[in-house]
Amino acid sequence: MWRNRHYAELEKRHLNIVNFMAAQHDLLKKMSTTTLPRVRCVPANQRLDRVKFRSEVECLDHVVELSAYRCPHCGTGVEFQARHFDATQPRALDAAWQAAFDTCRPLKAFEQALDFHCPRCAAPVRIVYDHAVSKTIDRDLLDVLEAETWPQTP
Ligand SMILES: [Zn+2]
Repeated sequence: MWRNRHYAELEKRHLNIVNFMAAQHDLLKKMSTTTLPRVRCVPANQRLDRVKFRSEVECLDHVVELSAYRCPHCGTGVEFQARHFDATQPRALDAAWQAAFDTCRPLKAFEQALDFHCPRCAAPVRIVYDHAVSKTIDRDLLDVLEAETWPQTP
């Protein structure tokens, strides 16, 4: 008897959580079609010419690995080094862009984001990278999030 009541209570709580999450998801979906800017996610190798940084290469060969990003909107190139992919970097984008990117492509465990604006056309960009091996500067660049159109059309 007690057990049945206990399970009923648990089930009620579980349903509450499920309903809450469904409501949150609906809200996010509504936001993404109304207030959030339109964004897309592309594999990192479509925008960057290097997607793997390996610390042993830099140590043994005394080279600095570079990855060149090309802006899809204006063609401007930006070069990155492994040290740029550092979780302590402050987020460079405003809250609306961060929310749009978070909604389109939520970060998973051991993933971090490098946010920046194209230095020429100011388009917002997020590079999602993996740094599971935190003691080294090994980095795998995974995805790039960007505005679908730039400049934004109202
Ligand atoms: Zn640009």
